[in-house]
Amino acid sequence: MSDIKGKILYEWLGEGCIKNLQFSDPSQLTGDPYDIAIIGAGVVGSALAYKLSQYSLRILLVDEKFDVGEGTSKGSSAIIHTGFDAAVGTLESRLVTSASLMWHELSEKLKVPFQQCGAVLVAVDDEQYNQLDKIYQKSLDNGVEDVKLLTKNEVKELVPDVSPNVRGGMSIPRESIIDAFSISIAFSEIALTNGVDILLGSRVAAVTESGNSVKHLKMASGKEIPAKIVVNVAGLGSSKIAETYGGEHFDLNPRRGQFIIFDEASRSIVNKILLPIPTAQTKGVLVIPTISGNLLAGPTAEDFELGDKSATATTIDGLELMLKGASKLFPSLTGEPRIGSFAGVRCACKQGTYQIRYNDGLPGILTVSGIRSTGVTSCPALAEYLIEGLKKECGVSLKPDPQAVDSRPESSLPGWWKHPYEKNGAVKARPDYGQIICNCENISHGEIIDALDSPLKPFTLDAIKRRTWTQTGRCQGFDCTMKIAELISEHCGIPLDKITKNGPGSEIVSR
Ligand SMILES: Cc1cc2nc3c(=O)[nH]c(=O)nc-3n(C[C@H](O)[C@H](O)[C@H](O)COP(=O)(O)OP(=O)(O)OC[C@H]3O[C@@H](n4cnc5c(N)ncnc54)[C@H](O)[C@@H]3O)c2cc1C
Repeated sequence: MSDIKGKILYEWLGEGCIKNLQFSDPSQLTGDPYDIAIIGAGVVGSALAYKLSQYSLRILLVDEKFDVGEGTSKGSSAIIHTGFDAAVGTLESRLVTSASLMWHELSEKLKVPFQQCGAVLVAVDDEQYNQLDKIYQKSLDNGVEDVKLLTKNEVKELVPDVSPNVRGGMSIPRESIIDAFSISIAFSEIALTNGVDILLGSRVAAVTESGNSVKHLKMASGKEIPAKIVVNVAGLGSSKIAETYGGEHFDLNPRRGQFIIFDEASRSIVNKILLPIPTAQTKGVLVIPTISGNLLAGPTAEDFELGDKSATATTIDGLELMLKGASKLFPSLTGEPRIGSFAGVRCACKQGTYQIRYNDGLPGILTVSGIRSTGVTSCPALAEYLIEGLKKECGVSLKPDPQAVDSRPESSLPGWWKHPYEKNGAVKARPDYGQIICNCENISHGEIIDALDSPLKPFTLDAIKRRTWTQTGRCQGFDCTMKIAELISEHCGIPLDKITKNGPGSEIVSR
């Protein structure tokens, strides 16, 4: 991506650690106030930065993690929902249904792998079967009209190995899968290109206001960053920040979702998302093909206290529950090889989903929280909705920037989706495209170098994983992790004992 106008800033690493990475010094942040500071670079914050970067505004996007999309956004089912089952008439339903229509074109612009694989809702007993008409009607009420009720035989035609207990179902042809990792990365890279500054590895401890209505982000490091408007989209961190500026109280808690990852060999047995009939408590256990060629079974819905570190762990009980749930829809899954597991945490809010408060506590502060289960889908529509609100409620003036870009170059497509070495002559021109580092996913040395040189200049193992899909295959990184750590160290000039999984405290070798 040429002509990057924004700066990438880190408060960490220490002197002498960086050779190739041209990070700016965060002390540059204390000058004129930013027009807008966005706290939280998940899918929602980065989508907002992307959309706002189309206007002539000085914007800062800040996150406490060492890469974008490292919060709730990294652990989802990666489904672009149609909104067929959303609560009718809600803001969530409106945003999800409208966003679902955007993703075909948007994924092309962002160079984010996307596939409309469709979903089948499967009823496996009489009680579930009797609910199908109601769910069908709800779909129509949500404006999702291309759904179709299916007989038992029609379900079997679409999903040959479906449970023998199947009684009927419903097809939802527009349900889709996406590379959810790439979403925050793509939005942020384009925002950065258009001049948004991105500060990572920096926690906002508080937001205060000075006499002239300028707000100050008080960073945990002691730095202060001035901004005229502050948007708090910090997910599970948002309520704590809101307390510091007197925002309306809301109660958040992490709701864990555990998943089993099946080997790529299993992918050919199901090519549609299989959905159970939801209960009043949960949407149940899904079987989900992933865009990178695996299958998932999950997620659970387990509530934890805010701050409980075990909320991101997987458990034997949870994974057994997922296997049992998934095999009710698709029994042959039980015998398929499993290669890993993970857990994501939803931002559950007692006061309801999609909490959006303008001039919250102080004029010019927007708090957005409780984007619990549908943010991957809704983020582009939500960002547009928030920008309308910022204009109306906070008086933000929006002058389009004629030089702003809204897409990434073709070369940004992740290598695992379209390996550069598959192009004629590519290996001759770049021999490192012919040197495979990750044997499970066939990722070359050259692709890892391309990721290290990409606009956000990632330098953690997880950040490389999310860009290249290395460390995600059968060996789960056993074979390639050290090779990648050495590559990062060599290419970025960071000593090997400072290479981390996802930031300080997660170093992978010790002296
Ligand atoms: C198990 C599971 C399955 C899901 N499946 C789907 C799905 O299939 N489809 C779908 O559309 N959605 C799905 N979702 C929901 C979706 O993942 C979320 O709605 C979305 O990721 C929320 O994004 P966000 O930007 O609001 O939050 P986050 O991604 O959590 O972003 C908030 C950011 O704020 C940062 N932050 C927090 N505190 C501070 C601070 N003090 N200072 C600086 N930074 C801070 C965090 O580091 C984080 O990066 C799922 C979620 C889970 C957990």
